Amino acid sequence: MTRAKGTDRDLKGLRAEIDRLNVGLLDLLKERADVVVAIARLKQAQGLDGHDPGREEEMLQALQARPSGAFGPFEIAEVFKTIFRTSLGVQEKTRKDALKVRRRDLVGPEGLKVGNVAIGAGRPVMFAGPCAVEDEEQMEQVAAHLASLPVPTLLRGGAFKPRTNPYSFQGLREEGLKLLQRVGRRHGLATVTEVLDVATLPLVAEYCDMLQVGARNMYNTELLKALGAIDKPVLLKRSFSATLEELLLSAEYILSHGNERVVLCERGIRTFERATRNTLDISAVPILKLETSLPVIVDLSHALGRRDIVLPCGRAALAAGADGIMVEVHMAPDRALSDGFQQLDLPAYAALVEGLGISRTPVRTPHGR
Ligand code: PEP
Ligand code: MN
Repeated sequence: MTRAKGTDRDLKGLRAEIDRLNVGLLDLLKERADVVVAIARLKQAQGLDGHDPGREEEMLQALQARPSGAFGPFEIAEVFKTIFRTSLGVQEKTRKDALKVRRRDLVGPEGLKVGNVAIGAGRPVMFAGPCAVEDEEQMEQVAAHLASLPVPTLLRGGAFKPRTNPYSFQGLREEGLKLLQRVGRRHGLATVTEVLDVATLPLVAEYCDMLQVGARNMYNTELLKALGAIDKPVLLKRSFSATLEELLLSAEYILSHGNERVVLCERGIRTFERATRNTLDISAVPILKLETSLPVIVDLSHALGRRDIVLPCGRAALAAGADGIMVEVHMAPDRALSDGFQQLDLPAYAALVEGLGISRTPVRTPHGR
């Protein structure tokens, strides 16, 4: 009885000792984590990789060589490998949090201005126009129709077309850029067109108000860097098989090279599903909104590859918090030189705008900001 009481007291005392040591260890680990964060920042500034297995091995060997009683080399390895792995996680989080693309103040309440249109200011914006700029009459008819509707609109149209098949229509190139600019100006519509490479960037930037990076080019880091160095807003599309993390890192390329005027675009990703051209990843919209304050739009045409479900999917995109909708519009889709099967004719476009209720949408508080 007496001995049991004594054992209880001993156990209590020893446990108190363990509690004190735990707190001491935790304090040391906190101190260590601060140094880890400082190293992560230094390495990031110097463009160095966070993980250094050689250095870990070196530290482990030095620790295992120390006499440490009951705590032998095996136990030392077990504990310190865990500490190293956890530190790497802390480093990665530090690096991630330091990304410009994660800043919450990239776009203010006034939105990102392109011409007279404010993207991300609370009222959804349309990015509409043909897949490709084909001729004056086509652009004139489409632009006149877009301008007649009471919604903020950018006029899209490809002049340099990234076609899968090299024998397909490749675009009117400089002539197309001039045409897009002329027609846009005539109708007071800011223009957006795709830029394919660094070589043609100065030319494309000369003629349009916003530069589009297509799905095929999201990984073109030289192009992204060059776009970071110019004074024009960029519409960055998600690649077919890109994760959202990769899309954000592509945006980071542009931001870190000096251009913070970037809009992200979900345009469908490749899955096994064949009912749509791609699979529209609606969850991308709220997830991107949590990760960044850059505006996010949804391209219904390239995501769906069909016209009959653009309205419900467009409604879903807006309900998910999208700042705008991209859709291809042609006065005679069956005669279009590219993507005819998915382009809307003029009445169908008017019906989409009406169905989305954008002209009636009151200015709302931007989602997630
Ligand atoms: C486009 O918008 O014209 C286009 C080619 O889209 P994506 O790059 O998304 O395929
Ligand atoms: Mn197209």
